[in-house]
Amino acid sequence: MKYAEEDYLMLSGIQHFQFCRRQWALIHIEQQWDENLRTIEGEIFHSNAHNDNFIEKRNNIIITRGMRVFSHTLGVHGVCDIVEFVRDDHNGVSIHGREGKYTIEPVEYKKGKPKCDQSDILQVVAQAMCLEEMLVCEINKAYIFYGETRRRETILITEELRKLVADSFKEMHQYFDKRYTPKVKWSKSCNACSLKEICLPVLGKNKSVKDYIQSKVEEN
Ligand code: SF4
Repeated sequence: MKYAEEDYLMLSGIQHFQFCRRQWALIHIEQQWDENLRTIEGEIFHSNAHNDNFIEKRNNIIITRGMRVFSHTLGVHGVCDIVEFVRDDHNGVSIHGREGKYTIEPVEYKKGKPKCDQSDILQVVAQAMCLEEMLVCEINKAYIFYGETRRRETILITEELRKLVADSFKEMHQYFDKRYTPKVKWSKSCNACSLKEICLPVLGKNKSVKDYIQSKVEEN
């Protein structure tokens, strides 16, 4: 199946979807957004990596920043922080306007300590899958660069991860088509969620709306 361009979802939404399906729906279907310290720090960090159309060459590597990517089969579009084209005349593919052949490796920037959680991993794997479709190549590995250690972690792109990415986007398209926002399901993630004031996860902890409002009134 191929999606029409007007039905594309944002690639970066896969990290929200992994974190909490309701959070993804609140942001991407209901257009709700609330910033907390974590999201603001993340945006500042990303703005340093993104520099549209910036291309740099270091020895045998061409580095692009802010490269736009898409996939008809996943029905998504987005931006890669960094894509590295590493000269490899044996295993690489040709790139328009460049001599030789190159292997292709996306690098996702994240602030904080290395955690390589599923949401970070699926995001960079999704970027690799878009690049494969656009450049007709195979990508075996990608990287996540963590700001606190200033080190990159290698992510091997397995069939299992590819399936998880494809299944996640399929489910996101189904939710989006029905404009369906899942109900509150309280978890530890709620404490760090930028939307907790909008979502009111406390309602999912067997508290009635009346009791919730009453407790808020008593707090003030
Ligand atoms: S507060 Fe909890 S349930 Fe609500 S969107 Fe955030 S993580 Fe999901």
